[in-house]
Amino acid sequence: METVKEYDLKKALHSLEHSDEKELSREIKCNKCAATFTMTPYSFTGNCPYCRTPVITNFVKEITPKSLLPFQLSQKEAQALFKKWIGSLWFAPSKLKKFFESNEELKGYYLPYWTYDANTNTHYQGQRGDTYYVSVERIVMVNGKDTRQRVQEPRIRWTPVSGQVNNSFDDITIGASKTISYAILDSLSPWHTEVLIPFNEKYLAGFNSEEYTLGLDNGFELAKVKMNTVIRQDIRRDIGGDQQQISTLKTQYHNTSYKNVLFPIWTAKFTWKKKTYNYAINGQTGKVMGERPYSWLKIATIVGTLSGGAGGAYYVNEHPEILDSSKKVIMEITP
Ligand SMILES: [Zn+2]
Repeated sequence: METVKEYDLKKALHSLEHSDEKELSREIKCNKCAATFTMTPYSFTGNCPYCRTPVITNFVKEITPKSLLPFQLSQKEAQALFKKWIGSLWFAPSKLKKFFESNEELKGYYLPYWTYDANTNTHYQGQRGDTYYVSVERIVMVNGKDTRQRVQEPRIRWTPVSGQVNNSFDDITIGASKTISYAILDSLSPWHTEVLIPFNEKYLAGFNSEEYTLGLDNGFELAKVKMNTVIRQDIRRDIGGDQQQISTLKTQYHNTSYKNVLFPIWTAKFTWKKKTYNYAINGQTGKVMGERPYSWLKIATIVGTLSGGAGGAYYVNEHPEILDSSKKVIMEITP
């Protein structure tokens, strides 16, 4: 039986340095209706725009997908999840109907992702903060008189520390398509990569499939950012104490490997008050992620609830984006 393999990252990066990839626009002739049409350079499956017959082209990129996750969610099921998501937001029922008329039909995509594995070894230097209390004298007003009082005040004692942590990462996923924004693509995780199956084009019929447009090297840089978040948490645990500061850290990556995979995604746009918002649904888990407009009424309610005026002002200061009603914010509702 064919299995899903990992590929050596260093070797691949070295070989990519010596290759020149050309992005050719692909002229396709439909087998069924003989119409010719073009596909974007990075698409390798799609449908004939005239008769909807599925088409598949050759790969252009040096690295081709070797495994995929099949769709677990039909278009109808995805549509129902989206309806639930948008309905759980803020629209009044009468507006909802009108809104659905402006909602594009969901399109199914197999989009490229990189997965990365690595063992890391990180040396760090920093400071450990331990809280202790000192007794201080204060003058406080008691019954209209200045009175001396002893109070306990917290202080932090900082001690320089250094050490190392080791981590092991398996299948960090990085979206490698520009069809939907990186933020949405990334927020569709987690993907259950333990059920990846070897690449087989029979799964792709009727869907749009793409090759990567974010390179293996750039993908690894983004994976390092994700690994770094975990490494920093680990360092804080290693330092211990009540507070931690990390001043330097140096990470070495060992046994790095990658896979080029295709993940199933439903995506579309909707229009609300003349603005367009993108959303996407994880075709494996049903997680819905999308840009959503903010409702001023809802903001007023949130701000009002946050302990009156002062809290509201604080909330707006901390979240200045809510003052800009045109701003799109990515929100999740788990089905
Ligand atoms: Zn055709």
